[in-house]
Amino acid sequence: MHPAMCSVHLAPQSPLLGTPLVDAHCHLQDGHLRADIPGVIARAQAVGVVRLVCNSDDEGDWDLILRLAEDHPEVVPCLGIHPWFVAGRSPGWLSRLEALVASYPVAIGEIGLDRQIAGRDDALQEEVFLAQMDLAARYQRPVSIHCRKAFGRLVELVSAMAVRPQRMMLHAYCGSHEMVPVFEKLGFHLSVAGSVTWPANRKTRTAAARIRADRLLVETDSPAIAPAGVPYERNEPATLPWIAAELACIRGEDPIALARRTTATALAFFSLSSGGSP
Ligand SMILES: [Zn+2]
Repeated sequence: MHPAMCSVHLAPQSPLLGTPLVDAHCHLQDGHLRADIPGVIARAQAVGVVRLVCNSDDEGDWDLILRLAEDHPEVVPCLGIHPWFVAGRSPGWLSRLEALVASYPVAIGEIGLDRQIAGRDDALQEEVFLAQMDLAARYQRPVSIHCRKAFGRLVELVSAMAVRPQRMMLHAYCGSHEMVPVFEKLGFHLSVAGSVTWPANRKTRTAAARIRADRLLVETDSPAIAPAGVPYERNEPATLPWIAAELACIRGEDPIALARRTTATALAFFSLSSGGSP
């Protein structure tokens, strides 16, 4: 089916309700989600989301996310410094992050490059990104990467690494369809977020249709990137079944088959069991 033809509306009869899914990237500590994290997790579980990979923005989130993962076995902790927040890092940030990575089975994220923000320092972004990529490679941890308007540079930097992390995901992929096989060849998984449901977003919808089945992940990036028809203040991991159903429509796939496959891919990527605990 042509990407523009799909439009799976939010409705209780979604074909995916109850099919196990993994939200490969979200931020439970951010925005309105933070006020009711147990409720957000319960509503996600009620529609079949069995794991929520929770990414930090900066150092201030690390302890909270570790505590969340202790209290809720569905929460998969991902610690790092996002490119928007590199200027605020503390002098000892990297040794503190390494100590946590050495002590806990955490993934690394959210890290990356963003050339769309005002007042940025590209050299500093790259330095902080590469330090965290090196940590992920040395401790063999999965890594969740943000990239906007820097896809060519990301390819250059990752290609030049002597030793790369073995598991890298590009989250909320917003690059071109031409770059999809370039990243796949470098070993990336590509994760699709709610922006794929925006009818006018032909670029992301076309790219999402080209991602190799065994490299495809799904996520909400909540509370950011609300799916079409969902107000920002209602965006949360429980919207994942509709994102996955729309993605299946765009790809011309059976939604339940896509859900099962992306869940198996995510569990393997994050080294998780299919049960309720890591
Ligand atoms: Zn994010």
